Amino acid sequence: MVQAGDATRTAADVVVVGGGGAGLAAASAAAELGRHVILLEKNPDLGGSTAWSVGSVSATCTPHQIGKGIKDCPEHHLEDLMRFSGELVHRDNLSLARVLTENTSAMFRWLLAMGLVFVGPFPEPPHRQPRMHNVLPNSKAFPYLLGRHCRGLGVDIRLNVRADQLIADAGRITGVAATLPDGRRHDFIAQGGVVLAGGDFSASRELKAKYASEEVAAVDAVNPTSTGDGIRMALERGAVVVNGDHLRGPIMRFVPPLRPKLIQRLPPLHPLTLAMRWSFDHLPAWLLRPFLMSFLTTALAPSHDLFRHGAILVDMDGVRFADERNRPDRAAAKRRGGMAFIVFDKLVADQFSSWPNFISTAPAVGYAYLDDYRRTRRDIFHRAGTLAELAARMDVPRDGFEKTVADYNAGKEVHGASVRGTRPAVAVPPFYALGPAKAYIIFTNGGLKVTERLEVVNAAGAVIPGLYAAGSNGQGGMLLEGHGHHLGWAFVSGRIAGRHAALSARKASLIG
Ligand SMILES: Cc1cc2nc3c(=O)[nH]c(=O)nc-3n(C[C@H](O)[C@H](O)[C@H](O)COP(=O)(O)OP(=O)(O)OC[C@H]3O[C@@H](n4cnc5c(N)ncnc54)[C@H](O)[C@@H]3O)c2cc1C
Repeated sequence: MVQAGDATRTAADVVVVGGGGAGLAAASAAAELGRHVILLEKNPDLGGSTAWSVGSVSATCTPHQIGKGIKDCPEHHLEDLMRFSGELVHRDNLSLARVLTENTSAMFRWLLAMGLVFVGPFPEPPHRQPRMHNVLPNSKAFPYLLGRHCRGLGVDIRLNVRADQLIADAGRITGVAATLPDGRRHDFIAQGGVVLAGGDFSASRELKAKYASEEVAAVDAVNPTSTGDGIRMALERGAVVVNGDHLRGPIMRFVPPLRPKLIQRLPPLHPLTLAMRWSFDHLPAWLLRPFLMSFLTTALAPSHDLFRHGAILVDMDGVRFADERNRPDRAAAKRRGGMAFIVFDKLVADQFSSWPNFISTAPAVGYAYLDDYRRTRRDIFHRAGTLAELAARMDVPRDGFEKTVADYNAGKEVHGASVRGTRPAVAVPPFYALGPAKAYIIFTNGGLKVTERLEVVNAAGAVIPGLYAAGSNGQGGMLLEGHGHHLGWAFVSGRIAGRHAALSARKASLIG
């Protein structure tokens, strides 16, 4: 075991870049094998996109499935995962997808052993069985509990330390050059290996332009610190990105609350989450919903069914700009701030107050209706007796807004926006607006090309010794469609990468 250092270098067996789901899983797997592990996290807190996520994890043969008498297997999961990829299935990475599906059961049980609590499984076609498990009370539970586990194992977690460059010696990756909180450079030397787990590149203009398009490059990411540092560092050492053009977005999501409520900052302690789970199974939904919804910390996406039923979209100037029924998210991305309001009247409001018309899917409660927003998101819920009052509540110019709705109701052709056609007019008070919703890139799917051991390979297909990648960095061309596969991959691949980096440290120490 290595444990040495001076003012400018610190040595370890394994160095992990990134403290999201994949990095924490990698660090814990290496530390469980007795290795000295340093984890570098550039932000003040652990979590990354893992903590932004809805928190769904798709898995088979879990205690939850078994408890409900659901018979399932990894092979069926793999087949269904490929069905999600549809016509892009030829671009998917079947061998890595097999690694994922064969390991979800063990990964899920490991999460349970860490103290994580889930509800579900929920159905999600074309999965032939319910496989989606949702974490309680929200996805911040992952970094909280995995971070605690890592610290317990002795992982040296360094917050506010940014990894900048990989250090190499005779073709082998031997460490990471990083910037300390006070701005000084520091080298973290890894005897066994470096695991890159720095998240996706949804917030990197440069990488989005390189792999996707200039149009996408201009759209903000949900997670502004997902700048693809791990990918960039590996590219500098000859690695390659697979399926870099494949991403989720632009998609409109309601902007997150400006300040999290006190309840959202509560640590996910076991008694609290177990009580929530018990309530989920035993209390009537009407009593439980407001409580579960109040824990929501992620940005939810409005259902496009709202537009099919007659809701319209207006920008921050109160002007319509798109055919709401035909992927309006891209058009919204080009408006001021990339933002828009969803506007409708009583008729639509009544329909979206109960199943089957929901405003958005929501973790824990499954589906959120208009009343859920009224109770838990007053910052983005606006209601008024007249359009003029509604404009004031939305803080958009009143005249422009009233004209927009009048033109729409009259079936006028307006530049950039579709005619109303057979859709109902926005005419019956009270009037409602939800928003703003902002067009975001949710995540990018391009990952480094890796082996099944999560070793990073170069353009010629040769392993770059000492370099591993996990989670989004090690996605290796998998599309991971459907819900709950990205988090699943972060944990599964992190565990594998951490284990192999640890084993490689042992080999190095035996040789040394
Ligand atoms: C809004 C939203 C909802 C989602 N919902 C789901 C869901 O319900 N289910 C699902 O399966 N997937 C979901 N996803 C996707 C999923 O969250 C991610 O794919 C997954 O969390 C990636 O894990 P990761 O560990 O690879 O990256 P991250 O969790 O992003 O962790 C990367 C970490 O590395 C750190 N880092 C980056 N660069 C450096 C550097 N230079 N030095 C040091 N540290 C660095 C980052 O700060 C971050 O903490 C969602 C994503 C978003 C944005």
